[in-house]
This record gives sequence, C-alpha cells and structure tokens, in this order.
Amino acid sequence: MQTISKNSPRALQLCLIKASLIFAFILSLGFYAKGTLGYFIFLFLGGWLIWTFAEYVIHRFLMHELLIPGQKDTLFHHHEHHSNPSNLKVNFFHRTFTLLLGIMINWVAWERNSTFTIFAGFFTGFLMYNFLHYLLHKRVGKYLFPRIQRAHILHHTKYPNQGYSFSTILWDWLFHTLAPAHVQVTEKMRENYFKNFNKGQETKSHST
Ligand SMILES: [Zn+2]
Ligand SMILES: [Zn+2]
Ligand SMILES: [Zn+2]
Repeated sequence: MQTISKNSPRALQLCLIKASLIFAFILSLGFYAKGTLGYFIFLFLGGWLIWTFAEYVIHRFLMHELLIPGQKDTLFHHHEHHSNPSNLKVNFFHRTFTLLLGIMINWVAWERNSTFTIFAGFFTGFLMYNFLHYLLHKRVGKYLFPRIQRAHILHHTKYPNQGYSFSTILWDWLFHTLAPAHVQVTEKMRENYFKNFNKGQETKSHST
C-alpha cells in the first residue's frame, strides 16, 4: 500500500489561505451580530469549522507524511489504524474525561459569552470527531453520513491519499482530495473495512 502523499509545503499554504478566508467570514458574521444570539452561534460554528480544518490538515499533512516505510509513526500510530481499521484505541476513561471537560468548557463559554466561545466550538468539534470516526467504522454510518463514509472506506482501502475528512466532506471537496466520482465501493472493500481483527492478531497486522 502506497501511503506517502505528495503534499508540498505550497499545498499546505494554499489550504491555510483558503480556509482562513472562510473562518474570517464566519467569525466576522459573529462579531457583526454582537449583542444577539448570533454572536454565540457564529463564534461556536467558526470554532467548530476551525477544528474540522485542523483535523483535515493533521490527517493529511502530519499523519500521512509520517507514514514513510521504515520510519516509526510513534506520535499518532495512524498506520496501526490503517492496518486494523476497527481498532480506534480510545478507552472509556479517555472518552468520559473529554466529555466532562467538553460540558464544562461549553458551560463556561455560555456564561462568559466572549471569544472563548470559539475555543468551545473547537473543542466540541474535537469531541464529535472522536465519536464520528467511531461511527464511520460502523455499518450504520452508511445511513448517517453516506458521503463521508464512502470517502473513508476508500481512504482505508484503495485511496489512502484521498478522503482525509471525518466530520465534514467540505475540505476534501474544496482541496480536491476526493477519490474520483466514478469509483465504486465494492463488497470486498466493505468486507475488509468492517472486519474485526481479534486482539491476538494485532501485532501481526502491524507489519502489513
Ligand atoms: Zn506503531
Ligand atoms: Zn478510520
Ligand atoms: Zn489515514
């Protein structure tokens, strides 16, 4: 499986510039609506959107750039997720802790009603990303978000350099990293994607 992507610093720059324009637009809508509920809503949405972009950039430029054969991906262990899609490595404690933290952050943001709301949106996006990625690896994801799941199945099978989205298809679409439209997800792809490796096979699948 070829997992080295040809992502130049130039490509990253262009992504950052385009995304910043979108963020500036949404956040300025929020500042324009200051004094109304729109202030909270647009700041929150802006923060969330910034997260979805961060998630895209980290996955595309960091996680996949580190997937160089022979080099250890000790920071993200993303190659393990690629060789064993069902293994997401999020434990119950981690999930409960971040959820409680998320509730606290949102409560503080609501009380303060300041630019801190941007961070609350960002953190909520991070929380939802964990949950959404989990759902993307479940069969029910087909009905909840068919387009993102299609992109994610292709990412895990034939097109590791396409489909970096988890929460929204927006950035893949905007930055042209979707697999060609005519490509079909085959039964065999789905089978591999949903396959559940048992714990004993984990170390074995690591080297593939
Ligand atoms: Zn490893
Ligand atoms: Zn995945
Ligand atoms: Zn990946």
